Amino acid sequence: MKIAIMGAMPEEITPILERIGEYKTTKYANNIYYETSYKGCELVIAYSKIGKVFSTLTATSMIEHFGCTKLLFSGVAGGINPSLKIGDLIVAKKLVQHDLDITVFGHPMGFVPGGSVFIESDKEFIDIAKDVAKELGKTLQEGVIATGDQFVHDSKVKDAIATHFNADALEMEGASVAVVCNALNTPFFILRAISDTADTDASFSFDEFMESSAIISAEFVMKMVDKIIE
Ligand code: SAH
Repeated sequence: MKIAIMGAMPEEITPILERIGEYKTTKYANNIYYETSYKGCELVIAYSKIGKVFSTLTATSMIEHFGCTKLLFSGVAGGINPSLKIGDLIVAKKLVQHDLDITVFGHPMGFVPGGSVFIESDKEFIDIAKDVAKELGKTLQEGVIATGDQFVHDSKVKDAIATHFNADALEMEGASVAVVCNALNTPFFILRAISDTADTDASFSFDEFMESSAIISAEFVMKMVDKIIE
């Protein structure tokens, strides 16, 4: 089994690399991939760089070039659902590109012909995540994650995304990774820990909490790996 573990920023995969300790570094398509053997299972770890395009490239590379058959994403997000506080974990039940807009032609937001508004995550991984959360005594929220190519720091924009898609959190990579994995029949799991609440203070909150939230998510994802391979 070869599992991809992906983040968008260095801080999102550093805690995983530190835990693993030894790995082989490979450069491919303007990115660095860290390959290792972990408890008898192959892992390929990488951060994509921020946004839908870079995350698409990395997810595709991990599956098509490196041969990964499952993909776990670990990172941070802006919370929309008021029940989500800084450091809380949310797993995507389904994902949507909130900035995909050809509505002038009569299509719904997030839709292009041939695609679908929402992409659903792998149910088996969500079940495993629930078990992990129980074992760790952590609360894990399930919900809709909305993805777009902007850092949202405005309550009006956040509220519009919430209303339109019934979204619980937003970030910049999840839905693009979901599109890739769905198209390539690769089970995937998108986990985020909240770094901010996507309003006026979001950039300050992000700077303060991104690293600690990234660690919370990374630690949870490594427990997922342990469960998947046991
Ligand atoms: N400070 C960084 C940029 C961070 S962009 C730099 O200067 O390089 C925000 C990253 O965290 C993205 O990868 C995105 O997925 C996630 N994220 C966290 N909060 C977000 C928000 N409010 N809006 C959009 N993405 C958010």
